[in-house]
Amino acid sequence: MNYIFHYDIAAILICIIVGGLFFSKKHIPSQSNRLFLCIGALIITASLFDVISVYSLNHIEVFPMWLNYIINQIYFFSFNCTYVIYFIYLLLITERHKGRYGKIMKKINTVVLIFITVAIAITPWAKTIFYFENNEYKHGFLHTILYAVAFIMLAGCIFTVLTSRRKINNMHLITTCTIAIISIVAIMIQLIWNELLLVNFVASLLFFMLFHSLQNPDDYLDKELDIFNIKAFLREITKRADKKKEFTVLAFEIEGLQFVDQLMGVESSNELLATVVKDCTKGLKGDMYHLEGPRFAYIFDKNSKDAEEHADWLKWRFVTAFHVNRVAVNLTMRMCTVDFPEVAESSEEILNAISSGLDEAKEENSYDVVVTTRESTEKHQRSAIISHILKSAVRNKSFEVYFQPIYSIDDKAFSAAEALVRLRDEELGFIPPDEFIPIAEQNGLILEVGDIVFHKVCEFLQSADAKDLGIRYVEVNLSMVQCLQEDLHKHLKSIMDRYGIPYNMIDFEVTETFSAVDNKILVNNMDRLIDSGCTFAVDDYGTGYSNTDYLIELPFELVKLDKSVVWAATDNEKAMKVLEHTAAMIKSLGLKIVAEGVETFEQALMLRSVGCDFLQGYYFSKPIPPAEYVEFMRNAEQCIKEKLTDRLAMLS
Ligand code: C2E
Ligand code: CA
Ligand code: CA
Repeated sequence: MNYIFHYDIAAILICIIVGGLFFSKKHIPSQSNRLFLCIGALIITASLFDVISVYSLNHIEVFPMWLNYIINQIYFFSFNCTYVIYFIYLLLITERHKGRYGKIMKKINTVVLIFITVAIAITPWAKTIFYFENNEYKHGFLHTILYAVAFIMLAGCIFTVLTSRRKINNMHLITTCTIAIISIVAIMIQLIWNELLLVNFVASLLFFMLFHSLQNPDDYLDKELDIFNIKAFLREITKRADKKKEFTVLAFEIEGLQFVDQLMGVESSNELLATVVKDCTKGLKGDMYHLEGPRFAYIFDKNSKDAEEHADWLKWRFVTAFHVNRVAVNLTMRMCTVDFPEVAESSEEILNAISSGLDEAKEENSYDVVVTTRESTEKHQRSAIISHILKSAVRNKSFEVYFQPIYSIDDKAFSAAEALVRLRDEELGFIPPDEFIPIAEQNGLILEVGDIVFHKVCEFLQSADAKDLGIRYVEVNLSMVQCLQEDLHKHLKSIMDRYGIPYNMIDFEVTETFSAVDNKILVNNMDRLIDSGCTFAVDDYGTGYSNTDYLIELPFELVKLDKSVVWAATDNEKAMKVLEHTAAMIKSLGLKIVAEGVETFEQALMLRSVGCDFLQGYYFSKPIPPAEYVEFMRNAEQCIKEKLTDRLAMLS
C-alpha cells in the first residue's frame, strides 16, 4: 500500500514548535502541565513510529521481523495512549478527578490501559492487532476494537466536559469538545482510507489548540512583571491543599507608588514597580506571585525558616531607596503571613486573610509581619460586610433612631432622652452601634449616618409635640469625625431651622477622645452652637484618659458617667469612693452629672446620694422606638410612682 506519511512529519514539527513555545515561557510545574507535555510526546512518538513503520513495511525484507513488530507496537501503543492521557488530563482540568466520578473513571482508564498494553504486547503471537503473513502487513481481529477504544475515550472526554460546565468556561468547553469530535472524525477517515495517515497530524493541530486555550503559560504570567499572577497563586494553593500539605503564605504590599504615579506619571511608577519586583526575585529564591495592584505573595512549606528569612530580606531591602529615572524613591511595605490550614482553609479564605492582615498592618501602622489569625480574619470579613450594609443603609436612609428616657432628679420627671441609632440587616439581624459606628468612622460614612440620625431626631421633635409630653431636650451623639468638620455648626443649625426646633432642645454628646485631637475646630463648633442655645455633654466619662483638663477648657454643661463607673461602684467600696470624689469634683466645676447604666433601684438611690442630677438606664427603660417613647412619656407619672416614689416610701 502507498501510505501518505507526510502528515506525520508535519505533526512532529508542529508538536516540537508548540513544545518550544511552552518551554520558552515561565511555567508552573503542575500535573496538568506534565500531562499536556505527555500528550505532545505521545503524538511525536506515534508520528515518528508511523513514518518508520511505513518505511519498514516498504522494506520488509530488510528489517528483521521482530523489529517490524516492535516498531508497529510502539506506534499503536503511543497512538492509543494519547487519548487515554487526554481523558485523564480533562478529568484534572474539570476537577472531576476527585470523588466518586473520578474514582470510577480512574478504574476505567486503568482497565483500558491494561487492555491496550496486553493486546499490543501479545500481538506477535496472538495476532490480536496486526500480524505479518508472507511479508505482508495484516490487521488482527482486535484491530478495530483498538480504534473503538479510542472512540470510547473521546466520548468520555465529551461527557466529562459537558457535565462539568460550572468548572470550565465556555471557551474551554468548546475547545475540548471540538478536539474530541475532530479526533473521532479523523480516526474514522483513516479507518476508511487506510493509506491516509492523517490522525497524528490532526492530533498535533489539536495539541496546538490546547496549548493556545487551556495550557498557555501566559495565563499564569504577569507579562509586564515577568512573575506568576494570581491565577498561578490560586492554583498552587489548591495543589498544596489537595495534597494536604501545610504551608505559609507571606504577602506584602508596596506603599508609595501612588505618590510616584502622581508626581512622575504612570509609566515611571510601572517602571519602578518592575524594578522592585526584579530586585525581589533576584534577591530571593522561591516564586513570587503578583496578586493585584501593589500586593505580592510567596508560598513556603510550613515551619521552614523561609518566610522569616524572606520577610527580613524584604524589610532590609526597603530601607534603601529604589531608583527610577535617576530619582531615588523611598518606598515602604506592609507584610503579613497566613497559615494553611489553621487560619484559612481555601483559596478564597487565604485571599481574605491576606487582605485582612495587610489592612491591619496599615491600620496599626506596623512595618513588622502581621501574623493573621482566624479571629482577626473573621473580624475583618465582618467589617467588610457591615461596611457594605452601611452603604446601602445610608442610600436608603434605613437607620432607625430609638430614644432612651432620662430621669431628672430635680424635675422629678423624664425631661430628657438620648437618641440612639439602630441598624438592622436581613441576614445579620440587629448590628450594635458599638460595632458599626467605628466602621462608619473609618470609611467616612459617619457624616451621612450622623446627618440621618439628626434629621430623624428633629423630625420626631417636630411631630411629637415634645413640649406637651414634657421633653425638655434630646441628647444626640456626635462622632469626633463630625466635630472636626469646620462647618458642622452651620450644618446642624440649618437642619434644626428646617424643622423649627429651638436650639436649646438639643444637647450634643461628645466622647472624651478630644484630648488626642486638635481642638480648634471642635471648640469653634461648640462655641457657635452654644451661642445659639445648644448645650454639650462629655460622654463616657471615666473610661478614657485620667486627664480632665478638657472639663476646664471646653464649654461643657453636662458630664455623662459611663455605666462601667456606676456598675463598679455598686459592689466595690473603693470604686464607690472614687465615684463620690469624681462626682464632687464635677459638681465643684459647676457641671451637671448624668449617670448611665442605672439598672436597679439601689443604684438609683446611690447615684442620687452622690449628687447625680440625671439617671438613665434599663431600670427605667431601654432605648425604645419613637412611638413607644411617646407612649412611655404619657405614662411617665405611673412609672415614676412605681419605680421611685412607692419604693422610697417603703424605705422610710
Ligand atoms: P453611649 O453613647 O454610651 O450610649 C449608651 C449606651 O448604653 C447605649 O447603647 C444604651 O442602649 C446603653 N445603655 C443605656 N442604659 C443601659 C443599662 O442600664 N444597661 C446596659 N447594659 N446598657 C445601657 P447602644 O445604643 O448600643 O449604643 C452604643 C454606643 O454607640 C453609644 O454609646 C454611642 O457611643 C454609639 N452611638 C449610638 N447611637 C449613636 C449615634 O447616633 N451617633 C454616634 N456617633 N454614636 C452613636
Ligand atoms: Ca451617648
Ligand atoms: Ca455613654
